[in-house]
Amino acid sequence: MAKVRLEHVWKRFGKVVAVKDFNLETEDGEFVVFVGPSGCGKTTTLRMIAGLEEISEGKIYIGDRLVNDVPPKDRDIAMVFQNYALYPHMNVYENMAFGLRLRRYPKDEIDRRVKEAARILKIEHLLNRKPRELSGGQRQRVAMGRAIVREPKVFLMDEPLSNLDAKLRVEMRAEIAKLQRRLGVTTIYVTHDQVEAMSLADRIAVMRQGEIVQLGTPTEIYHAPADTFVGGFIGNPPMNFLRAGALGGRVVLEGFAVPSPVEGEVLLGVRPEDLRVSKEQAEGAFRARVLVVEPLGPHLQLTLEREGETFRALADPDFSVAFGEEVWVRPNPGRVRLFHPKTGKALA
Ligand code: ATP
Repeated sequence: MAKVRLEHVWKRFGKVVAVKDFNLETEDGEFVVFVGPSGCGKTTTLRMIAGLEEISEGKIYIGDRLVNDVPPKDRDIAMVFQNYALYPHMNVYENMAFGLRLRRYPKDEIDRRVKEAARILKIEHLLNRKPRELSGGQRQRVAMGRAIVREPKVFLMDEPLSNLDAKLRVEMRAEIAKLQRRLGVTTIYVTHDQVEAMSLADRIAVMRQGEIVQLGTPTEIYHAPADTFVGGFIGNPPMNFLRAGALGGRVVLEGFAVPSPVEGEVLLGVRPEDLRVSKEQAEGAFRARVLVVEPLGPHLQLTLEREGETFRALADPDFSVAFGEEVWVRPNPGRVRLFHPKTGKALA
């Protein structure tokens, strides 16, 4: 186990700035997830930690050791990639043992580690099979096993589940969470999937254009997004943003009002599940018209319109409403967050 620390790390590819002044310190044994849209610099950052990509500026520490000039094989890390890169001609046992053989570990130590990893991953019965004789989920386990046998200080994982179908992803996600907690190895995990990030992370680093926009626990990120980008990226359906005016220290939308630290135009951010929809006029509510009704099982997803703006709300599955109807919408005042209309930054 070790902390990973990045201090003012930059990466430039010619004129492209892929990573800008990146700062992060993980805890020992922490599970940190980098999440963000395609091209935001997640993989580049991970590869710099691994030593697969040179850094343009800054310092990277693994434990107390500055690793800027340490080659990847000496960094005490193990990586799991999206394409598992298993050797097709080797069986599962050999695939898992290969890295240790290269490092000239004694035979019985290799055997002990491979069998222990196989036991943890429940792939003992597959040790003699070749990768082509395995399902996607089983291959994924072997890739994990290859990382585990190294007994590294840090796991680095780059979209390790993205080759699996939706159901298997959810299963393997739970496996990875369990495994990481059991082994207690500091883990940095890259994904563009916000659900995966929420479910796995102790802390999430939300990235955009080479920078961390917000670093926090899943709950902080979800309920107190630093800006409209984070509010819109995390959560499905995303946070709603309604234009509103603040006057005399309050933002008022018809019957609804919350205190505002600023005057003038603001964006009122509220998540779809924090809106209560009713057919009767309700206190603290504003009116809206129903545009779309989608029964999703656990709840009814409504797309609503108010003064030319559309937004979403989640209602009880047995709430009966039709296109064009007028409804009353009451935001949970404790869950409303105000944002600057131009910068998108949260207003304290
Ligand atoms: P994705 O989810 O699509 O993998 P990402 O967040 O991992 O995206 P990176 O792969 O880290 O993003 O890329 C960050 C930026 O750096 C992008 O603009 C990309 O085009 C650029 N980039 C990455 N590798 C190189 C390279 N070898 N040469 C030039 N530009 C690169």
